[in-house]
Amino acid sequence: MDGSTTTTVTPALGMSRLSQLVDQFGRHKHKLRISLTDRCNFRCSYCMPDTPEWLAKKDILNFEELLQFCAVMVRLGIRHIRLTGGEPLMRQGIVNFVHDLNHLKAHGLQRISMTTNAFYLQKYAQGLKQAGLDDLNISLDSIHPDTFKDMTQRPLEPVLRGISAAQQAGIPIKLNCVLVAGKNDHEIVELTQWAYQQKFELRFIEYMPLDQPDHWRAEKVITEDEIIQKLRSHFQVEIQARQHDPATLYLLNGHYKLGIISTISKPFCQSCDRLRLTATGELFSCLFANTGTPLRHLLQQPDLSLLQTHILNAVWHKKAGFIEHQQAPTRKISMHAIGG
Ligand code: SAM
Ligand code: SF4
Repeated sequence: MDGSTTTTVTPALGMSRLSQLVDQFGRHKHKLRISLTDRCNFRCSYCMPDTPEWLAKKDILNFEELLQFCAVMVRLGIRHIRLTGGEPLMRQGIVNFVHDLNHLKAHGLQRISMTTNAFYLQKYAQGLKQAGLDDLNISLDSIHPDTFKDMTQRPLEPVLRGISAAQQAGIPIKLNCVLVAGKNDHEIVELTQWAYQQKFELRFIEYMPLDQPDHWRAEKVITEDEIIQKLRSHFQVEIQARQHDPATLYLLNGHYKLGIISTISKPFCQSCDRLRLTATGELFSCLFANTGTPLRHLLQQPDLSLLQTHILNAVWHKKAGFIEHQQAPTRKISMHAIGG
């Protein structure tokens, strides 16, 4: 950790291989996920408690603090920022923030992405594109209104309109689908066929134990192998070589790309290049960590060198894998607060 940067570019990743953000196991961090708010207009049972207690607005980082933080992180080697939540489109001023973030592209930032439930996307798609948003991951657990309502407690129609609006605005889209046994696993083939026809890259995500306490069960997880087994009877399926992506990629019928994020059955911790910031300004070096490093007080100081030291320290001490965090007693933060 001598502070030197090497800017070797690998064509496969399109981003510098080394950054100053490196952990004790030599994993360099290039990707930052920022939770802009813990609030959400959906109630996906796999993500949050039925009656969530929202953070007070005063406890959430303002855009000035967020921008300051992002500038420091880009200087340290972050190349890709993903805005998430809660629901990022519930944050007032989101388009202006993307516009401001876009200026960091002159300093090394390469991509600005967003993960959203798309409910409000019809209103924001055009503005986000103009502000510099590069791509969207949209959560879509079903294309059946009943199943969708059962999983999210909200209607499907505005989400489909949001997807169309993003298409019209020319924003590249990937779809995310969390599979929960007994809820939407009977629709694996149908959702894949729909996404295939619409030419959307689809990613199935294994259900992770990051929701309300006592809700997750191992038997509710649909694993990568189970998904592939179902798809094989309808598509010719070919696995692709793994890159720095959390998803294992498959080619269906020789041309359609499908991803599976198999955190539970096949963890990919050894190649993890991500960091996460919560809406209150806590840095998490692992999605499964029980606590983060609070940084807000350091962001408010004129001299940012202490902030930088704390960030480098937190990254350096990242554990080898998520299994090690599961030995800790309880987790205080759920998915909607850390941002997925
Ligand atoms: N509200 C936005 C959305 O749903 O796309 C962004 C925040 S959400 C927390 C980010 C991602 O985490 C979504 O793709 C969601 O499906 C996923 N997610 C939430 N809870 C999960 C869980 N328990 N296991 C796996 N993925 C989960
Ligand atoms: Fe909201 Fe996204 Fe969590 Fe669903 S997955 S409750 S849309 S934050």
